[in-house]
Amino acid sequence: MSDVLVRGIAADGAVLACAAIATGTTEEARVRHGTSPTATAALGRTLVAAAMLGSGLKGQQTVMIRILGDGPLGPMIAESTADGALRGYVTHPEADLPPTPARKLNVGGAVGRGTFYVTRHVGLREPYHSSVPLVTGEIGDDLAEFLRSSEQVPSVVAVGVLVDPRAGVLASGGLLLQVMPGAPPTIPAYLEERAKVLPAVTQMVNGGASPDEILKAALGDLPLAVRERRPVRFACRCSAQKVEKVIVALGRDEADRILQDEGRIEVQCRFCGEQYVLSAEDVDAVFSASD
Ligand code: ZN
Repeated sequence: MSDVLVRGIAADGAVLACAAIATGTTEEARVRHGTSPTATAALGRTLVAAAMLGSGLKGQQTVMIRILGDGPLGPMIAESTADGALRGYVTHPEADLPPTPARKLNVGGAVGRGTFYVTRHVGLREPYHSSVPLVTGEIGDDLAEFLRSSEQVPSVVAVGVLVDPRAGVLASGGLLLQVMPGAPPTIPAYLEERAKVLPAVTQMVNGGASPDEILKAALGDLPLAVRERRPVRFACRCSAQKVEKVIVALGRDEADRILQDEGRIEVQCRFCGEQYVLSAEDVDAVFSASD
């Protein structure tokens, strides 16, 4: 199953529904950043959360989740664009913790206590910021709390990543159901009952379920009208041209100082880990082109 996000409305508009598979995206994030199993799960869940929060974006709109916890992973960021490009990083990708007593990856412990921030760039001059304190640091609980407290909508959220310490990411995906204001009062209770017996999202994804099948399992008898089906992937917006702009902004003197000390200038993109290396000749060319 390739990485894809499906968004729709259920029960005649009473529920916004979204499910995503992001196994390949999460594996690429793992390889690019060299994340430990716990960091892989934390970052993968955050990428999936960003993808689902970003479903329905248009044009140049983006949504970014920043998780600023005091745990060993440090700050973690994931961003989604309208065309399904996901990117993100965790400050300490090597950080890992022993599993919980239930033999699960200890994502909550690795994230710690802190704040869940969401920034939406919707095409206005100023982006929208909102935040809530982290509930458990397990990401799914935190996204649900964010939707409840900042957007006043009850929701069902599940995000999960299955990591094999040797083979990498086996499954990554998520589910998001948001009950709209004015929905019949029976609907939240119905969805909560279904959520209690729903298999873990990692189990469904690992078993080959499509987003449509995950939505069907979660929604039960509520009819779904699919509005969008969008591929998602790990993709960054960094480029050699942007790095050249950074070097011009640095100024010739500072660039020369680095060249003297290091023999070259290395710039690494935090979001994707891509490394850009410029020799003295490259730097000369950048400054003569910028004159
Ligand atoms: Zn990048």
